[in-house]
Amino acid sequence: MSVKGKTAVITGSNSGIGLGIAEELARAGVNVVLNSFTDSDEDHALARRIAEETGSQVRYIKADMSKPEECRALIGQAGACDILINNAGIQHVAPIDEFPQDKWDAIIAINMNSAFHTTAAALPLMREAGWGRIVNIASAHGLRASPYKAAYVTAKHGVVGMTKTVGLETAKEPITCNAVCPGYVLTPLVEAQIPDTAKQYGISEDAAIEEVILAKQPSKEFVTVEQLAGTVLYLCSDAAAQVTGTTISVDGGWSAQ
Ligand code: NAD
Repeated sequence: MSVKGKTAVITGSNSGIGLGIAEELARAGVNVVLNSFTDSDEDHALARRIAEETGSQVRYIKADMSKPEECRALIGQAGACDILINNAGIQHVAPIDEFPQDKWDAIIAINMNSAFHTTAAALPLMREAGWGRIVNIASAHGLRASPYKAAYVTAKHGVVGMTKTVGLETAKEPITCNAVCPGYVLTPLVEAQIPDTAKQYGISEDAAIEEVILAKQPSKEFVTVEQLAGTVLYLCSDAAAQVTGTTISVDGGWSAQ
């Protein structure tokens, strides 16, 4: 079954990986719901731009993924949700004994709990439609840890666990649930970490990228948004109909170590 004419809801998709996935799905003929917690002219202009470029229907719906009722309302407002991409995410880096409680709560809510609420709201729509794809954008940090990222690593491991459970609960249905685990991708989320890392280590920004950020990524190259978008499109295809409850690493070899 082609994805053409399906409806996708992509959380956190006015930037970075989510935006790249939205563009790829729209190019494949999928009607797309963009989302973030803002409601600016730029957000709606983004939807218009992708619609014009691809001919697919593209809407922007504001919903704050840190709020359970807004996660569920996003799916309700979308009206249909054949493809759910749980992508919204934030980061904060600090030792666990200094980790600000509000940052911990926000990361767990946005990076993990939101996927529970959107999945619970979307599954009845997928069952009614007789087809569904859930793709959770986890991380290499859903499979491996790094120091000072306790909340992020906890949330992403949680998402991987949820992915397995939902895969089992839907195994006999034409619905799949998988997680994509990217290594480092040069998006605003990572760009924001480069100056701080350089300062922390007393090195240049180029050295911070080479010696610190890409230290765990054997390819020594950033993963691209396009590579992740292509992986998501594959998971939405018929070729991936028996791929469920699992993770796909796109990490330049990070998790092979
Ligand atoms: P990004 O900062 O470019 O995008 C994050 C998106 O989430 C933005 O659209 C932002 O508006 C949205 N968002 C943040 N808080 C939100 C909220 N409360 N409600 C709704 N939307 C919210 O970063 P990105 O790198 O594109 O990250 C996307 C996902 O990929 C995240 O889940 C991230 O953890 C994951 N990831 C990123 C990398 C990387 O190296 N960039 C690696 C592995 C996994």
